[in-house]
Amino acid sequence: EISVFWFRRDLRLQDNKALNKALSSKLKVLCVFIFDNDILNELPEDDARVSFIHDRLRSIDKELKIFGSSLLVLKGKPIDVWKTLLQQYKIKQVYVNKDYEPYARKRDKDIEKLLLEAGSSFISFKDQVIHEENDVLKADGTPYTVFTPYKRKWLELYKSVQPEGLSDSSNFLGDVHDFPTLESIGFKRSLIEVRAYDLSKLNEYQEKRDFPDADITSYLSPHLRFGTISVRQIIEQLGEKDETFLSELIWREFFMQILYHFPKVVTNNFKQKYDGVVWLNNKEDFKKWCEGKTGYPMVDAGMRQLNETGYMHNRVRMITAGFLCKHLLIDWKWGEAYFAKKLLDYDLSANNGNWQWAAGTGCDAAPYFRIFNPIEQLKKFDKNLEYVKQWIPEFGTSDYPLPMVEHKFARKRALETYKVGLEGV
Ligand code: FAD
Repeated sequence: EISVFWFRRDLRLQDNKALNKALSSKLKVLCVFIFDNDILNELPEDDARVSFIHDRLRSIDKELKIFGSSLLVLKGKPIDVWKTLLQQYKIKQVYVNKDYEPYARKRDKDIEKLLLEAGSSFISFKDQVIHEENDVLKADGTPYTVFTPYKRKWLELYKSVQPEGLSDSSNFLGDVHDFPTLESIGFKRSLIEVRAYDLSKLNEYQEKRDFPDADITSYLSPHLRFGTISVRQIIEQLGEKDETFLSELIWREFFMQILYHFPKVVTNNFKQKYDGVVWLNNKEDFKKWCEGKTGYPMVDAGMRQLNETGYMHNRVRMITAGFLCKHLLIDWKWGEAYFAKKLLDYDLSANNGNWQWAAGTGCDAAPYFRIFNPIEQLKKFDKNLEYVKQWIPEFGTSDYPLPMVEHKFARKRALETYKVGLEGV
C-alpha cells in the first residue's frame, strides 16, 4: 500500500502542505503530475506555460532522485489516468492541495468519487492562500464583494504562518521513472521564459509600483500561479510588513473567493445591470488592439510587451483593458480571452476579476464613467517615454499609426452606450 501526492498548482517540494502531510503518513509516497489533455488541447505547441511547467517538473524530479525517488509524469484525462494508477498501485490515500477554480473543483469531485469507490481516500489541504473561500466572511456568514472591508477582515484574521521544510524525505517511494521530454507530450520549447521573481526592490514599491519603466514589481505572478513559491514563504521574506505590497496579495485572494462564491462571473457580468450594454465588437479594431497598433503609445507598448514576453505591467494592464472596453466598446470577455492566451501568469480569478473591474461590470469595479485618458496616463506614468520606446521601436516615426479613434469622441460614445445600456435593464 502507498500514498500518492498529486502535484497541480504547487510545483515545489518546500513548504508544500499536502506533500508534508503525505510524507508524515506511515506509507511510502509516490509523487505524480498529470498533463491534462483537456487543458493542453487548447494550447499552441510552443506555449510558454507548458515549457515553464516542464522545467519545474524536471527540477522536482532531480530533487526527488537525490532521495532515491522520482516524479511520475503522465498525460491524459485525469480521471482515466487515475483509473490506470488504481490498477497499477495499491493506493490508500491521495493527497492534494486544494484548487478553487470551477473546472478543478469538478475534476477533484469526480476523482474523489472514483477513489472512494476503489476503497481509497482523497485528502485535500489549504495551501495556495492564507485565507480560503470561507475563512473571511461577513458577520452574517456571506462573502465580501467589496475589497476594503474584505481586506480589513483578512488582516484581522491573519496570524503569522511559518513556512515548513520537507517533513520526511526518507518516505518517498523508491520508484524510478523516466522523465518525459517536452516533445513526447506534444509540445516544443517556447522562446518566452518566465522571469525569476525579485523581492529586492520592494522598499520602493509603494512609491514606484505604478511606473512601468521603473520595473520594480516582484514578478511573482507566474510563480504564485504555479506554486513554485508559497504565499507563506513570500510573506516571511517580506520581513518588515509592507502593507501596500501585502494588499496586492490580498487582492489575489479576494478575487479567488469571488470566483468561488460567484462562479457565474466566468461567463457573466458580476453586476447584472450592465447586461444591457451593447458592445460594438468590431473585429478589425480588436486586431489592432491585440497587435499594439492603436496609435495610443501606452496601449500599444503594453500589448507588445504582452505579445513578446507574456507579461504586462499592472498599470498598463489597466490602461489597455480600459481602452478595449471603453474606447473601442469591445466586450471585456474578448480581452479577457486574449490575456488568458498570452499571460504567463494567467489565472482565471485574477484575470476575470480585473477585466470586470476595468469594464465597470465587476464586484468592486470602478464606476463606468471613470474612463482612463490614455494620453494623460502616458504623461503621468511614463513621462520620459522610456517604457514606450522600449516596446515600440518605430515610435516617433511616420511608421507609427495615428490614433485609431479620437479620445474625446470615444469617451462620449462610451458614456452614452453605458448609460443607455444601464437604462435598458
Ligand atoms: P506585484 O505588483 O509585485 O504584485 C505581487 C502579487 O500580488 C502579484 O504577483 C499577484 O499575485 C498579486 N496581485 C497584484 N495585483 C493584483 C491584482 N490587481 N489582482 C490580483 N492579484 C494581484 N494577475 C495575475 O496573477 N493573473 C492574471 O491573469 C491577471 N490578469 C490581469 C488582467 C487585468 C486586466 C489587470 C488590470 C490585472 C491583472 N492581473 C493578473 C493583476 C496584476 O496585473 C498582476 O498580478 C501583476 O501585474 C503581476 O506582476 P507582479 O507579480 O510583478 O506584481
